[in-house]
Amino acid sequence: PPIILWFRRDFRLSDHAALSAACRTGRPVIPVFIHDQGVEELGAAPKWRLGLALEEFERSLNVKGSRLVCRRGDALGVLQALVAETGAGAVFWSRQYDPQSMARDTAVKAALKDSGVTAESFPGHVMFEPWTVETKTGGYYKVYTPFWRAVKERHVPSPLPAPEGFTAPQEWPQSEVIATWDMGGEMRRGAAVVQQHVAVGEQAALERLHEFVTDKVEYYKAERDFPGIDATSHLSENLTYGEISPATIWHAGHRAHHEGAKGGEHFLKELVWREFAWHLMYHTPHIAKESWREGWEHFPWSEDAEAPQVLAWKQGRTGVPFVDAAMRELYVTGTMHNRARMIVGSYLTKHLLVHWRIGQKWFEDCLVDWDPAANAMGWQWVAGSGPDASPYFRIFNPETQLDKFDADRKYTDAWIAEGRSDPSATALSYFDAVPVNWRLSPADPYPSPIVGLAEGRARALDAYANRGF
Ligand code: FAD
Repeated sequence: PPIILWFRRDFRLSDHAALSAACRTGRPVIPVFIHDQGVEELGAAPKWRLGLALEEFERSLNVKGSRLVCRRGDALGVLQALVAETGAGAVFWSRQYDPQSMARDTAVKAALKDSGVTAESFPGHVMFEPWTVETKTGGYYKVYTPFWRAVKERHVPSPLPAPEGFTAPQEWPQSEVIATWDMGGEMRRGAAVVQQHVAVGEQAALERLHEFVTDKVEYYKAERDFPGIDATSHLSENLTYGEISPATIWHAGHRAHHEGAKGGEHFLKELVWREFAWHLMYHTPHIAKESWREGWEHFPWSEDAEAPQVLAWKQGRTGVPFVDAAMRELYVTGTMHNRARMIVGSYLTKHLLVHWRIGQKWFEDCLVDWDPAANAMGWQWVAGSGPDASPYFRIFNPETQLDKFDADRKYTDAWIAEGRSDPSATALSYFDAVPVNWRLSPADPYPSPIVGLAEGRARALDAYANRGF
């Protein structure tokens, strides 16, 4: 009997434990994707990017003489229907670690087993599964550095090669056509612009990795904080959809490190931040929804998502160049440099005193590398409410940050058009991406600051001090 390979966020053929295990049996393999809207409500950009991932993955399966069977609906119902249609005897998948997926997967596993179908899950989305990393007293880690120390010497199995061949079932079950799902519907005209900045699929991810370890890793530590320099790997986008495995990146990073690349170890450390984020998501799932630290739910953040200051932040019209450049980079490319994420987050939650959840939600709508664990951890870190968070008095000053990390103004020049005689093409492309009803034009004057930086800082410090720190 065939094996159903249920793909979720693991759209790759190499280093795929579940797929390799299925192929090793010699039985026919039926790759399946289920658009399970009950469990996943995706923001506009992640949904659109998922559609691209699926189409590309389908093509790579076709090359191997296989297919991707796509269905919509409740996962268990779809799987049971497919088992009935194909006579499959087993369902394999790669584990996920967010609370919704875990609850669903547990129920699916139990129900399949009850009906006599083998259900088996495999690792791969992270290198160090959350329950395998424990403190000396048997708890989970709340601080990154000891987490890093606990995992850095661990053995990570070498990446598995892509299976040589697939055995196709005698008859393929029916599939819906991904294009009819309108995954990009909410992106509207933004899609055409962001499309120019994404790199979709396993091949593209491997190329990114190759470029990184060949040209960039040497200077990674020295340059990764400067948003005007293309110094990072951009692999977060591909990791989000499992187009490359973290272990593949880990081994490449290790090789570079052992061959003497200066930035090698630092890169591995960053990759482990992603592991740490999933560790926290698993052990403290409330991190995605509520302030992680006790007491912070009473912090006087504004929760008015429609406030004019929030709109100005989303539009990159705060009058603070570093913040505005970053918010436009987000809208045009679907990603944002890490330092810029910290600055716009600090500005929103501290200078504007707006709840981190509003920022988290906007990122969730705009990021093509949206990762529920990294996004939640990042926002709670900048807001001060998270584990291992920056202390409350650490309020990034976007002006001194600009002088330090964008001294030559390469980044702000790349993204801001107003007031410039010769704006860059990327800065202009922002106006092609944004909704027409925002009524923005590159001919508008550049706005003056919506909040004085000193005033915003003083207000934030006051609010934090009044919490009794
Ligand atoms: P590189 O510098 O090349 O790093 C390699 C990999 O390490 C990344 O691809 C990523 O998987 C991991 N990594 C690096 N830094 C971090 C970090 N701080 N936290 C977790 N993993 C990290 N990252 C996401 O992948 N998705 C998100 O939704 C996300 N939201 C964020 C929100 C905020 C407010 C902040 C401050 C950070 C957020 N990050 C998020 C983390 C980080 O900004 C991105 O992972 C990074 O910018 C991706 O670029 P890169 O792939 O070129 O990274």
